[in-house]
Amino acid sequence: MKKTDLLIIGAGPAGCSAAIYAVRAGLKTVIAGGAMPGGQLLQTSEIENYAGFIDPVGGFDLMERMHKQCKRLGVEMLTDEVAQLKGSKTPYTVVMAGGEEYEAASVIIATGARARWLGVPNEEKFKGHGLSACATCDGFFMRGKEVCIVGGGNTAFEDALFLAQFCTKVYLIHRRDAFRADQVTVNKVRENPKITLVLNSVVEELLGDETVSGVRIKNVKTNETSELACQGVFVAVGAVPQTDFLKNSLVGLADNGLVLADERTHTTLEGVFAAGDCADKYYRQAVIAAGSGAKAGIEAAAFVNLHR
Ligand code: NAP
Repeated sequence: MKKTDLLIIGAGPAGCSAAIYAVRAGLKTVIAGGAMPGGQLLQTSEIENYAGFIDPVGGFDLMERMHKQCKRLGVEMLTDEVAQLKGSKTPYTVVMAGGEEYEAASVIIATGARARWLGVPNEEKFKGHGLSACATCDGFFMRGKEVCIVGGGNTAFEDALFLAQFCTKVYLIHRRDAFRADQVTVNKVRENPKITLVLNSVVEELLGDETVSGVRIKNVKTNETSELACQGVFVAVGAVPQTDFLKNSLVGLADNGLVLADERTHTTLEGVFAAGDCADKYYRQAVIAAGSGAKAGIEAAAFVNLHR
């Protein structure tokens, strides 16, 4: 069995930042990032809200820079995926999908989340062609256009307000007539003349040839279907943390799959930390994932150095 001070699961901004801090604190650091390391940013065309970049930076480019930075500092990058985390105290055993095992004094879980999609026809075809799960990332490309946003939580409502700043019309489509979003934000949406609420309605199909040109919706109370013309569709129906591999471990998970971690990134297991979207209930932004990764790296270094 191979041994390391720290094994980081996930090579997105959280995992990379954690590795940068840990390796610079003297820890032998390994990242298991899978065959396509980088997480959700790989699907983000342009990032304009990551401090330090005057011009927009491509998500792939940003992740490539982080990976090169990690390697330059001496972090070992594995293309394996992690299948299981075993143990109740340090050292932990991390089992790779290929069967190889690592003994790690400390582990950081930074596996991120993936957007929950609607599961309707044409979804795959239109991803990146008018269909997005990130208004913050892609909304600006829809300036001057009519768009739909699907969902009834804070993300959908805040995104609707964000999109209304530069889109001509925003339809907020929600399957019920009650919302998870907080009342203050709901009121702001209701008062915004550019936003129309389309309630008790579900999207049945995305319409268009090369790019989105509309949606077919069904009113779930009347069963009536209708078409709504729009050039962009944003899906904000929640995110799914990538934590399935932890279900047989002793790491505490919330009902929604998020890793339970405190503000210093400590999980329910001593020496196991969590950072980024796999433990983030609120923000799910790259810069915040990087920040929490830095915290986890600092905490892991303190833990390992104390137990040497
Ligand atoms: P969320 O609160 O889980 O809301 C998801 C919404 O999508 C719900 O309204 C749900 O409908 C709907 N939905 C789920 N699956 C669907 C499907 N298959 N088809 C159609 N609709 C579907 O998710 P979120 O808005 O992303 O928020 C996640 C967390 O982050 C929440 O705790 C939220 O408060 C927090 N957040 C906070 C802020 C802030 O404080 N500034 C901003 C953003 C997010 P139902 O309601 O019918 O279940």
